Amino acid sequence: MAIFKGAGEGSGKGNEWGANKESGKEDESGVGKGDEFFMRACIELALIAKQRGDPPVGAVLVRDGQIIAKGMEGGKTHNDITYHAEVEAIRQATALLQRQDLSGCILYTTHEPCILCSYVIRHTKIDKIVMALTTGEIGGMSSRYPLLSDVSIKKWGPAPALITGVLEEECRKLH
Ligand SMILES: [Zn+2]
Repeated sequence: MAIFKGAGEGSGKGNEWGANKESGKEDESGVGKGDEFFMRACIELALIAKQRGDPPVGAVLVRDGQIIAKGMEGGKTHNDITYHAEVEAIRQATALLQRQDLSGCILYTTHEPCILCSYVIRHTKIDKIVMALTTGEIGGMSSRYPLLSDVSIKKWGPAPALITGVLEEECRKLH
């Protein structure tokens, strides 16, 4: 397992949607974009969730440099305790790809996945999780139940790479 601190992508300011002039690719799926671009997509979703009265959490799944699925927190809106942003993105991706193995995918999320989401993430073998904020006692990495990094469950295979701190300040402002 590797935990990296997100860094090296500039100040986090002025990196607007579609503002990747060098690549010339303005595709809103995010082809050719970096971690901050995808985290901004998560923030957009988190803001919608917040407007609906749900916790401000958003997540996207990226495969081959492209967003293939999106999710936003909806436990309150849908009266469903399992309606977490990460789970919704994973549901969308497994439906799209017609399989539960999401290896080769990267999950971006505004918040460290909770214990529930971490279980789903490990089952689907997502390669890498990029998050902004950590969530302490309910988190799948920083709590007493670090399912995201546990390698004792053989069928889960290797633990995903875990990156924290991408657009941390922007995500903190969601609250
Ligand atoms: Zn969760």
